[in-house]
Amino acid sequence: MSTAMMTMRRAAALGARHMLAASSSRVVPIRHMSADVGAAMEKIRAAGLLKTQGLIAGQWVDAYDGKTIEVENPATGEVLASVSCMGSRETSDAIASAHSTFYSWSKLTANERSKALRKWYDLIIAHKEELALLMTLEQGKPMKEALGEVNYGASFLEYFAEEAKRIYGDIIPPTLSDRRLLVLKQPVGVVGAITPWNFPLAMITRKVGPALACGCTVVVKPSEFTPLTALAAADLALQAGIPAGALNVVMGNAPEIGDALLQSTQVRKITFTGSTAVGKKLMAGSADTVKKVSLELGGNAPCIVFDDADIDVAVKGSLAAKFRNSGQTCVCANRILVQEGIYEKFASAFIKAVQSLQVGNGLEETTSQGPLINEAAVQKVEKFINDATSKGANVMVGGKRHSLGMTFYEPTVVGNVSNDMLLFREEVFGPVAPLIPFKTEEEAIHLANDTNAGLAAYIFTKSIPRSWRVSESLEYGLVGVNEGIISTEVAPFGGVKQSGLGREGSKYGVDEYLELKYICMGNMS
Ligand code: NAP
Repeated sequence: MSTAMMTMRRAAALGARHMLAASSSRVVPIRHMSADVGAAMEKIRAAGLLKTQGLIAGQWVDAYDGKTIEVENPATGEVLASVSCMGSRETSDAIASAHSTFYSWSKLTANERSKALRKWYDLIIAHKEELALLMTLEQGKPMKEALGEVNYGASFLEYFAEEAKRIYGDIIPPTLSDRRLLVLKQPVGVVGAITPWNFPLAMITRKVGPALACGCTVVVKPSEFTPLTALAAADLALQAGIPAGALNVVMGNAPEIGDALLQSTQVRKITFTGSTAVGKKLMAGSADTVKKVSLELGGNAPCIVFDDADIDVAVKGSLAAKFRNSGQTCVCANRILVQEGIYEKFASAFIKAVQSLQVGNGLEETTSQGPLINEAAVQKVEKFINDATSKGANVMVGGKRHSLGMTFYEPTVVGNVSNDMLLFREEVFGPVAPLIPFKTEEEAIHLANDTNAGLAAYIFTKSIPRSWRVSESLEYGLVGVNEGIISTEVAPFGGVKQSGLGREGSKYGVDEYLELKYICMGNMS
């Protein structure tokens, strides 16, 4: 009997009748909801993509103690579904299942793994409408952005399906004539992947795509706020022929799940996207079992607008960099540094653009700004604005909760922000654009680098030498020059300093899931 099966039996003996009863996927009732939300949920259910149980060893299972958590629509407060609230026991079984499947999945040819990943990509694209609806409902982002994320998320599967076939080793010229020296690249093993709510699909595929391509197996823990998109994507993975156990999903009690992943000697790698505070805990917790770790953590992106910038390009670029997902992305422009000569002109054009943003329910076509994820997020924004105004900053537009109520917040511009304010020092993670005046290029670089974060930075200038000079001086993993949206599956994404370790996407993305093995062959003459 496989280790996974033994562990599953143990779980059953411990009273996991929920798991057994649930193994034939249950029908999820549609709760009473407003007409548009109800219709959207019906469409998702009709496509078979409304999953509410965890996925362990290819089985949809309830939490062993039957506990559930409610997933809410941040735009309306309606409960969309109740999902299994899992903990350490379910995570241990998921790890055991991933561990036993590792031996078969990693032995497949790269071509076979590639085909399954490509099929998963095709199925996600075929169901892009339902996945985008789910994302808008549970996360709040406007449908257009949600559709963009489905394409972006799927692109990692397509890219790594191709990259699976290009994981080459090396042959090294030997130092002794009777030897042959080889380097093999082999999968790390079982991967624990912990992901945030702000990109419910793409943060998963950006990890699972390269992990599966390399031959690793995975236990994913999506955020409790956005598990539905993750579960729907996992169902499509099963349909695509990704074998039972290669991809497992558990959600619920985050510290318990995290600890189970950290303590297991079978989990050889932790990959995490989320806050810097949790990232540090996971890094420390990985030390005991010496796991490989990659971390995509918080940012504090500077967006530098120089006097010589094209004003239209600068306004369009900083608006996109700031207000995507209502300011809730790690690469959102967090500090807009504007040179004195262009400050007034930029501020008035930028404010005009901000006033044109439409706040509303993401299901409505005209909406460009959805709600914030929860009440705590709004309170954080309020705290940062109060701190700034008490220290001399002025609210130029917005600056309060939106009349729609719930967690909607007015797109906001705050002027004369300085480096002693929270808006400068920390990630606001909301629709607030702080403007910070500066005099010289040196001052801009100093201000931009005056933070422990180092993920994304943006500069707007027409000078080619300046764009090189400043890009090279910025202590950041990603730099956008005259462009506010820079993420793509073909380029390496990741931060320096306390924004993280490792890179995702691109040809470098597979390195995080591979070990090098050196083989020395003697007596070869
Ligand atoms: P978070 O609170 O750190 O949560 C991220 C994930 O970690 C969630 O799945 C969460 O679970 C889980 N988690 C929380 N405590 C844990 C623990 N003790 N052990 C194990 N897992 C734990 O971050 P968030 O608020 O969801 O996301 C926002 C942050 O992510 C921002 O700082 C943003 O900049 C960053 N981010 C970075 C990138 C990047 O690529 N660098 C991309 C997107 C977001 P629950 O949600 O279930 O509690």
